[in-house]
Amino acid sequence: MNLYEQQPYWLMKNGIVTSYPSLQKNLKLDVAVIGGGISAALTAWHLRNAGLSIAVFDRRHVGMGSTAASTAFLQYEIDTPLTSLTNLVGEINAVKSYQLCREAIYHIAGLCKSLKPAFDFSLKPSLQHASFKTHTKTLKQEYDLRKKHGFEIQWLEADEIEKKFGFEASGAIFSADGGEVDAYLLTHALFKSFGEAGHKVYNNTGIKTIGHSKHGITLHTDNGFVINAKKLVIACGYESLKYIPKKVAEINSTYALVSEPLPDIHFWYKDSLIWETAVPYMYFRAVSENRILVGGRDDPFHHPHILPSVIKRKTAMLQHAFLKKMPHIPLKIDFSWAGAFASTKDGLPYIGCIPERPDTYFALGFGGNGITFSVIAADIIHDLITGKKNDHARLFSFDR
Ligand SMILES: Cc1cc2nc3c(=O)[nH]c(=O)nc-3n(C[C@H](O)[C@H](O)[C@H](O)COP(=O)(O)OP(=O)(O)OC[C@H]3O[C@@H](n4cnc5c(N)ncnc54)[C@H](O)[C@@H]3O)c2cc1C
Repeated sequence: MNLYEQQPYWLMKNGIVTSYPSLQKNLKLDVAVIGGGISAALTAWHLRNAGLSIAVFDRRHVGMGSTAASTAFLQYEIDTPLTSLTNLVGEINAVKSYQLCREAIYHIAGLCKSLKPAFDFSLKPSLQHASFKTHTKTLKQEYDLRKKHGFEIQWLEADEIEKKFGFEASGAIFSADGGEVDAYLLTHALFKSFGEAGHKVYNNTGIKTIGHSKHGITLHTDNGFVINAKKLVIACGYESLKYIPKKVAEINSTYALVSEPLPDIHFWYKDSLIWETAVPYMYFRAVSENRILVGGRDDPFHHPHILPSVIKRKTAMLQHAFLKKMPHIPLKIDFSWAGAFASTKDGLPYIGCIPERPDTYFALGFGGNGITFSVIAADIIHDLITGKKNDHARLFSFDR
């Protein structure tokens, strides 16, 4: 499966950060982690001081899966609005899920500060505006429910949106809590710290088979080595689906562009993360070098090879939609790419165990908020592996 097509901006900007070797011997471990993206990096990092021998295996290079393609908005507002999620999982569970996502943003902020050297992280507010006048009422209901549960938000009317953001919309929710991060670089920074704690990371080491027995887990690598482990973490992103008998997600395609550097002009209020109520939505934010990132125009299916002509057409549509909204910002496309992303029945991730795979923990941050979900997954899996009780695990369990 191609996780993305064409070169994402962050991969081009950062290049190869750290090279890890491929595995060249058999191993015995307490915990084997398959996957080297942000989900694995966070989980491995959380476990690094738990007194366990741990190693991470990636069939590509670490960070070069979906993580490199991510547009890396950190938002607690998941793809399913709180009002809809309430109908699906009940108000208590829905609110708790939103609260955990909000906490995850601050957790990442703290974690980035604690890394040595401290990792660059920005808290950013976000604005969700009504795409059409007819969406205003539903968005206001969403605002009322979130406000009732203590989320730090403001309702903006059309005149204020125009004044602060420079485009027309009939109403919007302005959220104080949001952030942005370079997910590819953060993955490398976490693995560096994980390595400094005495653990190993392997690139170019695909896991071909996973066996379960009363003695634990046996992994066979595609270059002929055997790894025995007491416990296994599967953090293979969208490629994890083949390890689960039940269908838990649909794979879709999404598109993104990063503009050429723009003149030094004020973009919009607090460089907020901007998105909308339409489905699929268009979203945009300012990125480094005074560039703007625009994403969206999702397709409800994923073709294993998205053609360059499709990416060109989709990103031209994104550019056009952006320029219609913000004609005063002369956005020209510099980088464009497409990626796979998965959606679940309720917009929540799947984290934890399935009966078919004993001693195995899945970190599947599926959905538009994959990175915030990965933070939650790392916390839950840390607790499950170290035998600590985790009150939130049931919210994201496979049997919910
Ligand atoms: C265009 C785009 C925009 C996005 N925007 C956002 C956003 O704004 N905010 C947000 O939170 N999320 C966003 N996401 C989602 C987010 O990027 C993902 O949720 C996240 O990167 C998933 O990380 P991961 O570590 O789970 O998976 P990956 O980064 O894909 O890592 C999994 C790794 O597992 C490895 N692997 C797979 N199978 C094997 C095997 N058998 N053996 C060894 N290794 C294996 C792969 O090589 C890969 O490196 C976006 C995604 C895309 C594509």
